[in-house]
Amino acid sequence: MNRLRWLVYGLGLLAALLTGCQPHSTSSPALQPPPKGVLQITFFDVGQGDAALIWFPNNKTMLVDGGPPESATALIGKLRQLKVQRLDYLVASHPHSDHIGGFIKILNTLPVSEVWDSGFVYDSPIYLDYLRAVKRRGAKFRVVERGYRATPAPNCLIEVFAPSKPFLRGTHSDANNASIVMRLRYGKVRVLFTGDIERAGRARLYQQGADLRAEVLKVAHHGSSNGTDAAFLNRVRPRIAVISCGLRNLYGHPHKEALQALRKAGATVYRTDLQGDITLRVQGDRIQVFTTRKSPPTPATPAGASLFIGNRMSKVYHTPDCKGLPKPENRVYFRSREEAEQAGYRPHRACIGD
Ligand SMILES: [Zn+2]
Ligand SMILES: [Zn+2]
Repeated sequence: MNRLRWLVYGLGLLAALLTGCQPHSTSSPALQPPPKGVLQITFFDVGQGDAALIWFPNNKTMLVDGGPPESATALIGKLRQLKVQRLDYLVASHPHSDHIGGFIKILNTLPVSEVWDSGFVYDSPIYLDYLRAVKRRGAKFRVVERGYRATPAPNCLIEVFAPSKPFLRGTHSDANNASIVMRLRYGKVRVLFTGDIERAGRARLYQQGADLRAEVLKVAHHGSSNGTDAAFLNRVRPRIAVISCGLRNLYGHPHKEALQALRKAGATVYRTDLQGDITLRVQGDRIQVFTTRKSPPTPATPAGASLFIGNRMSKVYHTPDCKGLPKPENRVYFRSREEAEQAGYRPHRACIGD
């Protein structure tokens, strides 16, 4: 176990102890505003659904999905705890209620400047309520699609990869496959948001040659087996993967196939159903992780196995089949790329790439 992870457990434990002493205090580091000059992303535990807050280094804020309606009050409480006073952007990845349900109360509570929408029209009362709430708030309503780019803060580029027109029809879920897929780049760190995109939507991304590479992946469709496979992870190659799903949800998310693929890809998996709210702080190429619950992240490989081998002399790490492995006495073993990089090792270009 690396030092950072001990730190994360330690902080979680400390928060648990503190809240134990003061039943009404919830001062977890995962729900605190970022220090100056840091990009912070919080994946909220909203039960079965998605909601993530991006806090840009210039203090602008973007909420990517708003969770289901039944979590809206709790989500607003968490935004207050984070001291969020306004939302510069809301992003509605697609019109399902577990993504836009919370937006109605949020739009009625907090100032919102601009809403990004997939443009996929959906016949549901919640979708209509959401459109009405946007109108009442007077927020700018922007339909985004492939090719749209925005720079909400200096050095923060957002590229939209999907949806693209015409929308896919006749798929397992056309609404899911019309999800906004977008990548945030801040310096060397890229974060890919995928909504609930499924197999058909991914196939279109491959056809279009989208560069999906990202250090952090918001796993598609709550860890469903139709949201994640080896081919996709080969393109993204995430170090950290976040699954947003409800504890003991009706759908059995996350599915074991998705977890296995993530494990094989060497990603460290954080889950809102187990770790609660998950906050990443990005500074330079370092990513710190804080969680409101102390449950450990899912190890990238089964106990005892090691996927990556570091050289303690050169501080470079390799895959076990690399031709340039260090001498046995210089080997350090890591269970994931994240673990190696948190320990200050860099990838070997020849076997891992950069
Ligand atoms: Zn969903
Ligand atoms: Zn959906």
